[in-house]
Amino acid sequence: MAETLDLSFEEMWEKILACDSKYDGLFFTAVKTTKIFCRPSCRSRKPKKINVEFYSTIEQAERAGYRACKRCQPKAALSPRTELVRKVITFLVLNHKKRLELQDIAEHAGVSVYYLERLFKKETSETPRSYLEKIRVDKAVNLFENSSRTNLEICYETGFQSTSNFYKVFRRWKGCSPTEYRKAMKRGEPL
Ligand SMILES: [Zn+2]
Repeated sequence: MAETLDLSFEEMWEKILACDSKYDGLFFTAVKTTKIFCRPSCRSRKPKKINVEFYSTIEQAERAGYRACKRCQPKAALSPRTELVRKVITFLVLNHKKRLELQDIAEHAGVSVYYLERLFKKETSETPRSYLEKIRVDKAVNLFENSSRTNLEICYETGFQSTSNFYKVFRRWKGCSPTEYRKAMKRGEPL
């Protein structure tokens, strides 16, 4: 705790109603009925005002018998949003060869599909689907450069479900077909 905020109960109550992340780490909201404590920015359903206590440090909240909220993770150094996006990206990279549905990704991240899509888009400006496509296209380009495999082989090796999908997605990211890309690469043209 770097500094003590001189905030009244009402002020802190207003911050948590607004989910104001600027106050994260500066005080913690504890809910008597659930015995959970949160960051001010936690998006979980708001408790009744009468059930809320505020603490200025994690230690104080824990000493009073509260556990950290799993959603806003007040004890995590990174923001849970950043942590979650990082976890999703790692999962996509490790599993890009498999057929992945949004449901699988959301399950791995422990959130709903709706929440995953919204959060991921907000943090990366892309959807998990387009991010996955980008990973696959990058892997394909890498194989063009470092292997003599055919387009068909590379299509399936990088996790595309069909060649038509491979060609469509590749063109979207690179502005040309895989074959055109390979030819230009062989000629040493900048791409
Ligand atoms: Zn929380």
